[in-house]
Amino acid sequence: MAQKDYYAILGVSKTATDDEIKKAFRRLAHEHHPDKGGDPSKFKDVNEAYQILSDKQKRGTYDRFGSGAFENGGAGPGGFGGFGGQGFDFNFNAGDMGDLGDILGEMFGFGGQAQGQARPKRGRHIEMDVELTFREAIFGAEKSVRLYRQTMCSTCKGNGAEPGSKIEDCKTCSGTGQTKQAQRTMFGVFHSVSPCKDCHGRGKRPEKPCHTCHGYGVEKREENLNLRIPAGVDVDTVLQVDGQGETPAHGGKPGDLLVRIHIKNDSKFEREGHDLMSIESIPFSVLALGGSIEVETIDGKERVDVREGTPTGTVITLKGKGVPFQRGGRGNQLIRLEADVPRKLSKEQKQLLDQLRNTGL
Ligand SMILES: [Zn+2]
Ligand SMILES: [Zn+2]
Repeated sequence: MAQKDYYAILGVSKTATDDEIKKAFRRLAHEHHPDKGGDPSKFKDVNEAYQILSDKQKRGTYDRFGSGAFENGGAGPGGFGGFGGQGFDFNFNAGDMGDLGDILGEMFGFGGQAQGQARPKRGRHIEMDVELTFREAIFGAEKSVRLYRQTMCSTCKGNGAEPGSKIEDCKTCSGTGQTKQAQRTMFGVFHSVSPCKDCHGRGKRPEKPCHTCHGYGVEKREENLNLRIPAGVDVDTVLQVDGQGETPAHGGKPGDLLVRIHIKNDSKFEREGHDLMSIESIPFSVLALGGSIEVETIDGKERVDVREGTPTGTVITLKGKGVPFQRGGRGNQLIRLEADVPRKLSKEQKQLLDQLRNTGL
């Protein structure tokens, strides 16, 4: 967008005082007021220039960076109009006026924030559930999900126009995207501004509406979406996938997709946050004499040493064999060692155990 010279628009010098700016604004607002047959686009520029130059902070920003600094979310056009007739004659655009707009809106029932230009619309969020296996939750996974959602019209790519037909300025609002309502109050006449209903605040309308979406720019479609589930997600985690919700009609930002995670149980492991828990049954003789045993980890089998004289129920920790953290690293695996009491014994084993019993074991 071209840089605007707000000083030139108001016809004042760069060193103009607040008072000079206000005077210039009042004169020009009268001159260009659309209600008095003025040019709406000039009126818009004058308003915009005044909003910036009458605010110390915004003026400072403008002096340093130019009008580009206000193009995204800055003070838009609209706002305070001139004074005239009986009492005050406001041009009221609460959305752009901040606190003052809210106060006036409350006083006169214009509804504050919702007034003015169309606010950027947001599509609905979509919520869904996804079930992962125990291992998928630990190591991450790619999941294909099927979504039936309102999404950008594939025929017109969202602009609502039949392919090949033109998009023209809205006749209702002369391309401004706004319509005005006058309201007479004891304080004078207030003009409230609201988004044009015919073009939904866009200022443009298709000459011929798209046959698929009838000009709404969206259609319901079933689609596959690949979800990348990060490693280490826990049960009931809700993953937010930006912009994969529903697309609003007549333009705007899509909502998000919210994916709630469910995790299947595993026969070997239990999970406690980022730690994994398991039980290993090992022979009494190994606990008593010590030795090396094979245990199951989520990464596969591994050998660990058992110290001589380890009581049954002892918990050993395998560092870094648990669930990955988002920030890197992994939790631990906790293994409970239990003495394996055999159900069946050979004749020889029985004899040996009998001898052990005689020694007091
Ligand atoms: Zn369409
Ligand atoms: Zn319109």
